[in-house]
Amino acid sequence: MQYLGIETAKPKVAFFDFTCCEGCQLQMANKEDTLADFLNLVEIVNFREISSSHRQDYDIAFIEGSASRQDQIDRLEKIRAQASMVVALGTCAVFGGVNKSANLRSVAENNSIVYGDQPKESLPVKAIHEVIPVDLSIPGCPVSKKEVEKIVVHLVTSAEFHFEKYPVCIECKKNMNHCLLDEGKMCFGPVTRAGCDAPCPGGKLPCYGCRGPADETNWPELKNVFYRMGFTDDDIMEKLNLFHSLHSLNGIE
Ligand code: SF4
Ligand code: SF4
Ligand code: SF4
Repeated sequence: MQYLGIETAKPKVAFFDFTCCEGCQLQMANKEDTLADFLNLVEIVNFREISSSHRQDYDIAFIEGSASRQDQIDRLEKIRAQASMVVALGTCAVFGGVNKSANLRSVAENNSIVYGDQPKESLPVKAIHEVIPVDLSIPGCPVSKKEVEKIVVHLVTSAEFHFEKYPVCIECKKNMNHCLLDEGKMCFGPVTRAGCDAPCPGGKLPCYGCRGPADETNWPELKNVFYRMGFTDDDIMEKLNLFHSLHSLNGIE
């Protein structure tokens, strides 16, 4: 690969999935118009969804999903020992995501409700940074392929990358969407980091904050807006518990 006329080495990249829906990996694999360019930029040595290669000599490991079993924790430690850079890919990996809803009950309760007399091995769900050190976190449920590709270009060329600091509302307004707060819907766009181009409010669905908090937020005031709309703390927590990505606003880990 050449950058500014200079031959640069392609980093060896691997993608690994843990507890998740694999939608983030699918995002990376399913847009053929840019897939060839992406594959030209890096050497994919391990990516189950698109390749039969299972090489273990990777430099960058993209981790999708959260950890919910001991064998996953052991596997994560092995990946950390090999990779010079570990990237948490997607909201499940970065925050625990929808999987962390399991932590609202004990493992025994979940097992009895879901699996009856055939309990499955499980641990309380953890985000990847709660298990091993993570060098870079790319949020989103799913991730934006465009953003991941932009980040990979920055990694390969050693250029710094900055996520958008402002909230989803900016992108929502730029797209000329009607504000869902005016329709009495609880939308977390004012406190959520932009970068997704506001697809949810664009489709009349409130933003539930899958990308985590923006840099500067006024969460107490947004909560007041929700209270004035008639929502209770329980209503707010129910929404926050969807992705577990905005809990830090409430001082919750
Ligand atoms: S972050 Fe969302 S799309 Fe990605 S693996 Fe988790 S549930 Fe699937
Ligand atoms: S709909 Fe949501 S994201 Fe869009 S402007 Fe209103 S609060 Fe912000
Ligand atoms: S609008 Fe909100 S919930 Fe939807 S993708 Fe963007 S950050 Fe995630």
